[in-house]
Amino acid sequence: MHVTAIIAAGGSGTRLGADGPKQFLDLGGRPMLEHCVRALSDHPRISELIVVLPAETAAAPPEWLSACAKVRVVAGGARRQDSVANAFDTIDGSDVVLIHDAARPFVSADLISRSIDAAAAFGAAIAATRVSDTVKQVTPREGGPVVAGTIPRDSIYLAQTPQAFRMEVLAKAVALGRSGVAATDEAALAEETGHIVHVVEGDVENVKITTAADLARARARVTAGRTPRAGAGYDLHRLVDGRPLVIGGVAIHSGKGALGHSDADVACHAATDAVLGAACLGDIGRHFPDTDPRWKGASSIELLRQAAALVREAGHEIVNVDVVVVLERPKIAPHLQAIRDGLAAALGIPADRVSVKGKTNEGMDAVGRGEAIAAHAVALILSR
Ligand code: MG
Repeated sequence: MHVTAIIAAGGSGTRLGADGPKQFLDLGGRPMLEHCVRALSDHPRISELIVVLPAETAAAPPEWLSACAKVRVVAGGARRQDSVANAFDTIDGSDVVLIHDAARPFVSADLISRSIDAAAAFGAAIAATRVSDTVKQVTPREGGPVVAGTIPRDSIYLAQTPQAFRMEVLAKAVALGRSGVAATDEAALAEETGHIVHVVEGDVENVKITTAADLARARARVTAGRTPRAGAGYDLHRLVDGRPLVIGGVAIHSGKGALGHSDADVACHAATDAVLGAACLGDIGRHFPDTDPRWKGASSIELLRQAAALVREAGHEIVNVDVVVVLERPKIAPHLQAIRDGLAAALGIPADRVSVKGKTNEGMDAVGRGEAIAAHAVALILSR
């Protein structure tokens, strides 16, 4: 059975924060969307995954997404149903199409399987949960709403996603949506076409993240039980005439630069060792040996980016990094923000979680005499 999954992540609402659309907000060191993408793309019964993104993001999708096997990115439309229709148009034959909302990052493999099975058997199925509270019908009154009646709660289910359909059933629903019928989910369109939509038992853990409180609870859930781990890094390079001075990826005008096989960026090298050290993954020399011609002249920012990716692949979240650069001259204060921004981008964390400080060595030793530059770094990660 060929199963296509669609993640509807075309919304550009920024209600949950200034950091952009909610599907890209951080949830335990990864964007919320990545949790959904992993859950679906790792599922053995899903053959392909279409991720619908806002048009501007779809034109240049994040690297982690482009790197995912099974994944195709499609530009979304004005409404959710338009986004799903855009994705549907790109499907080249499938038995079952499963639609999931990017705001539900905790979808389980079992729930995905149940939804696929029900759609294959009945043509259309949604995950939904029973209500445990007594349900009241109310009417507005001056002074506040009043109860008009009690609805038997056995008749009430709260719809979630996944919603799954046989291809031909979804085709009719999408066509109805295109004819001008508006709906907040595809099941409503399928109902309008006259198809019976079955309910599979949803999952109370499969919450939809809508409010700041939802996001805070989700973050607490993701990080619960994780252990903080610290790592240290240190580096030193000789300063010689005729070399560029690169600190944290920023080229700084100076009479001297650091001597080394690569660009000899002490801030990056110390930060790289700190994050690798926190994850017990060895050090920069193990992963990027200077005997390997691949790393000759390599940008150390790129090595830091790769090290951060290794740490993340091992299941850790990078919390923060603090770097001390020890250098007699020139003063690096004017460049600190640029260095922080560059390190943060390479580490894949916000710049407000990267600190960089400049120190001199008070004229003492090789660093103090201007013959060398050194850096220390500390990284904190949360283990899996
Ligand atoms: Mg070095």
